[in-house]
Amino acid sequence: MTPSASSDRPAQPSVGLIVPCFDEEEVLPALFESLGPVLDRLGPEARVLLVNDGSRDGTADLLDAQCARDPRYGVLHLSRNFGHQAAITAGLQHVRGDVVVLLDADLQDPPDLVPAMIATWREGYDIVYGVRQKRKEAWVLRAAYRVFYRLLKRMANVDIPLDAGDFSLMDRRVVDLLNRMPEQNRFVRGLRGWVGFRQTGLPYERAERRAGAPKYNLPRLMRLALDGLVSFSIVPLRLAVWLGLATSLFGFLYLIYAVAERLLVGTTPPGWASLVVLILLLGGIQLVMIGIIGEYVGRIFEEVKGRPRFIVARESGWARDEGHG
Ligand code: UDP
Ligand code: MG
Repeated sequence: MTPSASSDRPAQPSVGLIVPCFDEEEVLPALFESLGPVLDRLGPEARVLLVNDGSRDGTADLLDAQCARDPRYGVLHLSRNFGHQAAITAGLQHVRGDVVVLLDADLQDPPDLVPAMIATWREGYDIVYGVRQKRKEAWVLRAAYRVFYRLLKRMANVDIPLDAGDFSLMDRRVVDLLNRMPEQNRFVRGLRGWVGFRQTGLPYERAERRAGAPKYNLPRLMRLALDGLVSFSIVPLRLAVWLGLATSLFGFLYLIYAVAERLLVGTTPPGWASLVVLILLLGGIQLVMIGIIGEYVGRIFEEVKGRPRFIVARESGWARDEGHG
C-alpha cells in the first residue's frame, strides 16, 4: 500500500546529514565537493554533522577546516575509535533536523540520492533506505549475507532487506526513538528495521570507494578481537561452542565406526562402544549449550556495565556553537 501524499510534510524540511569518518583524509576533499551542490539544493536549513571516529591521520584538521569555511558543517570528535555503529549513534544523538540522513564518507553512498529520498519521505514514508543494485563482493560473502538476513528475519522478526546498508533517511520521530533505545550493542540497520513505521527502499548504484582504504578488513577485525580478549570480550566463552561442536561431530563419527566394527568384526567387549559414544555426544552437546548461554551472559555483562557508547572529546562548527544537553 502506498501512503497518500502527506500535505503536512514540508517541501523543504530541515535536513541533518550524518557522516562518520575514520581515517578518511584522502576522500574528504571529494566528499565536500560532492556535498556542496546537494546542500545548496536542500536549502538554508541543511546541516552536516561529521563524526570523527578517533582518526589518526589528518582527518580531524580537514574536518575543522571545513567547519571554518562553511557554517553548515559541524564536527563531533570522539575521544578514540569507537567503531562505525557507535559513530552513527553519536551522530544520531547530536544531529538536528526534521529528517536525518546517514551517509558514508567514502562516497559509496551517492549524496545525489538525498533529494529523491526526501521526495519519498514527503509521500508519507518515515524511513527511506538505499538498496544497492548489485553487490560487488565475492559470491561466498553474498551467500553469507543472504543466510544472515534470512536467519535474522526468522529468529528476531526483524526484516532487513538483503541489500540495504546504513545509507538511509529517517524521520525525526524515528531518530528520537532510536536515541531512546538503551542498547549498548547497536546494529543500527537492525534497530531501524525493528521500529517499524512505513519503510521503503530506493534503488541506487553503489560505487567503488572513491579514495583511501576500506576500514573493515580481516586483520583489523582480528586485532580488535585480540585486544579485547582478556578484559573486554566474551570470545573465550565462544570457544565452548566450537569445542562442543567438534566433540559432537567426533562422537557421531565414532558412533558409525563403532557400530560397523561391532557388526563386521565383533571384537569389542559388549557395551563399551555405546558408552563411549554417549559420553562424547552428551559432553559435546553440554559444551554447546554452555557456550550459547555464555553468548547471552556475555551480552548481559556488556549491557549491565552501562558504559557510554562513545565519548565526545571536542566539538567544532555548529555542533560547538549551538551546544546541547
Ligand atoms: N568508519 C567509522 N569508524 C570505524 C570504521 C569505519 O566511522 O571504525 C566509517 C568510515 O569512515 C566510512 C564508513 O564508516 O565513512 C564505512 O566504512 P568503510 O567504507 O570502510 O566500510 P565499507 O564501505 O567497506 O562497508
Ligand atoms: Mg565504504
